[in-house]
Amino acid sequence: MHQDIDWPIRVAAMDALQRLVRQYGEVLPWELIDAGFPYQGETLHFANRARGIFWPRHMRETALSIKTTVPRQGREARYDDLRSNDGFQYRFQGTDVESRDNRRLVRGMEWDVPLIYFYGIEPGTYRPIWPVYISEVNPSELSFTVVTAPQDAQLLEPGLHVADPKLLSLERRYATVQMKKRLHQAAFRQHVLRAYSQRCAVCRFPRPELLDAAHILPDRDERGRPEVPNGLSLCKLHHGAFDADLLGIHPDGIIEIAPRLLAERDGPTLEYGLKGFAGKPLEVLPEAKSQRPRRDYLAARYERFRQAS
Ligand SMILES: [Zn+2]
Repeated sequence: MHQDIDWPIRVAAMDALQRLVRQYGEVLPWELIDAGFPYQGETLHFANRARGIFWPRHMRETALSIKTTVPRQGREARYDDLRSNDGFQYRFQGTDVESRDNRRLVRGMEWDVPLIYFYGIEPGTYRPIWPVYISEVNPSELSFTVVTAPQDAQLLEPGLHVADPKLLSLERRYATVQMKKRLHQAAFRQHVLRAYSQRCAVCRFPRPELLDAAHILPDRDERGRPEVPNGLSLCKLHHGAFDADLLGIHPDGIIEIAPRLLAERDGPTLEYGLKGFAGKPLEVLPEAKSQRPRRDYLAARYERFRQAS
């Protein structure tokens, strides 16, 4: 067992990241990450724009973070990696496992040190995941396997604690599958909200904090993939009404309100916020046709609304 001499920097970085996420949410723009974190009166970086594998120069032996980026062109990132139940595949820097950058990760694996993974969600936008660990080196695929640990797990300094390796690997496997689901949802939300210019499709309400990416076909439907044409950007009120089949959307994009709600009388939220939209078309739709709700998805969902009414 080896003691991690870079440990204090790692802990400072993860604490600072925790504060950022608490303040700004799980998905961070690069500008916030690039501002770095305080350490012994200096500002250190979390990551580097140009490099995938990064450590501040104070770190002697392993790396601090890894990063994947969504390229500007081909903005529709593909998340094939998220569909498997195994760890994340992280590409070598170049092709030589002995290169300076890759060696830092190999050492990180040997010592089981926790790293930060800046997972690219959109160009310039990352979901930081920590702690992650390098679990394998795959020389023939030129990649590392990266797994995560339960979010609430206490961060233990490697070398000082003896863990049951079998239990540890099971826990990490499970946590990795959960994290992949969350990443998929985060990517879906990000893409749908952007396609709708951060507004509710029904009422144009513009605060992202109160907007959701609603699924047209639910997750459990095998067609219900987390892709923009299966999504609608909806405010909390209209998302709730849509999911409760109090608000339906005709395949032609016309909003319908459940008859039982139309028959009720109440204050302005019911009158203007719900009933007022009956018979009107969706207010906001994505500019690109390929991003708009798929008609057959809307039709299947509308059928459910009709039956519930
Ligand atoms: Zn709304």
